Formats: sequence, structure tokens, C-alpha cells
Amino acid sequence: KVRVRFAPSPTGPLHIGGVRTALYNYLFARQHGGTMILRIEDTDSNRFVPGAEDYINEALDWLGIGIDEGVRQGGNYGPYKQSERRDIYHTYVKQLLDSGKAYIAFDTPQELEQKRKQVKNFQYDATTRMTMRNSLSLPAEQVKALVDSGENYVVRFKVEPGRDVVVHDLLRGDVTINSSILDDKVLYKKADDLPTYHLANIVDDHLMQVSHVIRGEEWLPSAPLHVLLYEAFGWADTMPAFVHLPLLLKPDGKGKLSKRDGDRLGFPVFPLDWTDPATGEVSSGYREAGYLPQAVVNFLALLGWNPGDDREFMTMEELTRDFSFAHCSKSGAKFDFEKAKWFNHEYLLHTPDAELARDFKPLLAQHVDVARYSDDYIVAAVASVKNRINFLKDLWPNAHFYFEAPTEYNAKDVRKRWKDDTPRLLTELIAILETQDFDNVESTEQAVMHWIDGNGIHKGNLMNAMRLTVVGECKGPGMFDITKILGKQETIARIKRGID
Ligand code: GLU
Repeated sequence: KVRVRFAPSPTGPLHIGGVRTALYNYLFARQHGGTMILRIEDTDSNRFVPGAEDYINEALDWLGIGIDEGVRQGGNYGPYKQSERRDIYHTYVKQLLDSGKAYIAFDTPQELEQKRKQVKNFQYDATTRMTMRNSLSLPAEQVKALVDSGENYVVRFKVEPGRDVVVHDLLRGDVTINSSILDDKVLYKKADDLPTYHLANIVDDHLMQVSHVIRGEEWLPSAPLHVLLYEAFGWADTMPAFVHLPLLLKPDGKGKLSKRDGDRLGFPVFPLDWTDPATGEVSSGYREAGYLPQAVVNFLALLGWNPGDDREFMTMEELTRDFSFAHCSKSGAKFDFEKAKWFNHEYLLHTPDAELARDFKPLLAQHVDVARYSDDYIVAAVASVKNRINFLKDLWPNAHFYFEAPTEYNAKDVRKRWKDDTPRLLTELIAILETQDFDNVESTEQAVMHWIDGNGIHKGNLMNAMRLTVVGECKGPGMFDITKILGKQETIARIKRGID
């Protein structure tokens, strides 16, 4: 039974790399009819940031990454927030202490600092632990006395040196490292009565019956320790399979993508806007920048995975069907901001016109009285410019002339296209237009072209002059597509105004 979890720490806004991790977990779960768990890993009280958990929920909701079990959804394996699982962790810390796989250490931060100064490359491990103050080096009575007197301590994992530890990774194969290079990691801190990430993570993955741990490559160095912890608990048989996903890299491939890259290049690296509660600083998000969630999902899915063919445009259903670790890359994926825009463009293009028009209305209302326009009119206006936009917010600049007649004309275009005989020709043009059925774009165009060709008129100048009067500048969709939507009366009124 596939059970996967996304396990963010609420230490700030969810980075787009974290979103990709969540997405891959989700796709894998859905594909196998499995369960997607959201676990909040908030055991590091120093790094807790208010609002971060809500932000995570909101971002996943927006993207359509559904959660089956979690703080909000509930489930049979809760609580799903680690700070609410203290009692559970106590049991397991005690189990490791009782079985001699872990020990109590009293060294203060100052003592550890001192040691690091004295001993080059100091590491708390089998070679040094007897020189420190802990339950292995001190007499039992003294340990008991210290504990009873309320002395602060941590519980450390007793790593047995000289063992080859194998991490089976579905992407990378077997990764072997020697246990001698690992340190005796802190598993629990009495000061805040909370376990560290490593202990809580293993205990929870076990108790929540997680089948696959799918997470970022930055956790690969911790995986051998995790394997040893599974063994120490006697859970090696049911250890989950590991998948460490490649990093998201800067656009130039040089290093991990950071918030600074986004700021520098003017692109978001977060799903939603985030206001830092401490500084008030705002980081911009994809949602507020005008991206569609489906476009972000599609774009992210392809950062580190490909469908094995040249498809790029894929819906959540297709991604769910075709996703596989076999086509995940091991090396980092370069973030391509232009590609993100392209995806959004494609998704807008595929969005039904009526839907686009509906979403456009609130933006339109900022400029004009929407009630003056029929739904059909707004839909037609949107449809005529949608191949020109990357974002919803581009609709107004591209379609504004459907809703307001030009009040000024682009000076450069006027200089280039407005000739001495233009007013006279436009007056003749109006006479022709009067006789035409604007709904028939082709015949209207033919009639105008026939007149232009038959009278030796400069087509480029005349048509652009007409466009100037109707649109205000020499840009936009086909001239007669525009006039069809505007209608005869409005078109001719604008040309007349232009002549005057
Ligand atoms: N809490 C860890 C994080 O924030 C989870 C790592 C894991 O998935 O094991 O990335």
C-alpha cells in the first residue's frame, strides 16, 4: 500500500522546490491509489514562523495538490503536527536509552564550543565520546544525580563505527557510506522537551506506515543515519523506500535556486505572496504574479522529470498517469523562467473563452462599467487577443480598445502613416464600410481591398491609418476581426473622430 508524506517545516514560505517535492509525492500517491499525508515538522521551536503552516495549506490548495491525511483532514495516524506528538517521542527516546542505542549527554553549548576550539575537526562520535560528559563516560550515580537535579541534557544516538551503511535510493541505486564518518546526532533536547528532526521523522514515518520517502536531495546525507535509526528501533524490515529528488538550480545551472535569483530576475520562487511577519518584507508568489495553478504544476513537474517523449503540455491527470521515477533525473534541474511564462501562455490559450472572460471581468471593472457590455461582447474581445497574452493581467492592455475609444493616437505611428490624403481616403472608406455586413469579415475585407487595389491606394498606409483611428496605435488583432466585434456604428464613429 503506497503511503507517502510531504513533511515541511513551518520555518517560512514554502519554496518552489518544496512545492515540486509535494507534487511528486502527490502524483506518485494518486498513481498508485495510495495516500498522501501532510505532516507538519515543527520540532525546531527556534525556527518556527507564525503563518507558515497556513501558507503551506493555502499553496497546496491553490495548486490542487490534494491531501488525504493531515492536520486539517484528520486521519487514523494523527496527530499530524509533531509538536503535538511529544508523548509518542518520549516512548521511543526511552526505548533507545533502555536498549543502549542512545545515551544522555550533559555537555553545555559552551563546553562543546571549547572542545571545537581545542580539537581540530572535532566530531562527537565513538572516538571522542568518552572525553565528554555523558552517561557513557560518567559513573551511573553521577548521571542519576545530574538528571535528578534538573541538569539540562540531550539524548544522542550511539553510532557504532566501522560499518558500511547502505541507503537504497530508487533514483540513485545503492549509496554506501561508512558509519565512522557519522556523528552521534542529538535526538532529543530536554530544554524544549522535543525530539530533533531525525528522531521525529523516523518515528513518524514508521508509525504512519510511510512506504516511500520522497524528498529533496539535501536530505541524502542524513539518510544513512536514518537507516541506522530504523535498525536501532528494530524496524529495518519495514523501512520505507527512499527517493532523493535532484535540486532546482539557478537558470545558469550554477548552484541552488534561491530567493535572490528570483528577485534579481524579477520572477517569483514562491507559490504565493509571502509577507515576512518579522520584517514586513514581501516576497512575490506565482499566484499573485498571474500564473494559473495548472501551468505552475505542469512546469514544475517537468523540472526533474520527463514523460519519455517530447510532450510538454500535460494536465494533472496525464501527469498522474505517466509519472515515474524511471524518468526522473539525478542531476539538478535548471529553472527556466521564460519557460514558466510560456506554460502560462499555453494554459491561457487552452482556457475556454467564457472562463477567461469571467476571470477578466473584475480586472475590467477597474477601468470601465462592466454592466455596459454583454457577456458575448466580453467573450469575443477576450478571444480575439488571447493568443497575445502570458497573463490575465495582459488582457486589459491588449483588449482595452474594445472598451474605450482612443482619446489620443500614437505619435510615432501618426507620423509614419498619416498622409495628406488620409482624411479624404478614410471618408471614402467610410462610404464603402456603410454598405458592408461587418459580421462577414471576409467580404468586408474583400470590398475594402478591391477599392484599395482599384484606386492605386497605398495599402499599408491606409490600413494603418484606419487602425490608428479605431485602436489608437498600429497594434492588435486583424483589423476586420476588430471591427466585427466593435460593430459598424462604433467603428465608423471612431474613424470620423480620427479624421476630425
Ligand atoms: N522537515 C523536513 C523538511 O523541511 C522534511 C525532510 C523529509 O522529508 O524527510 O524538508
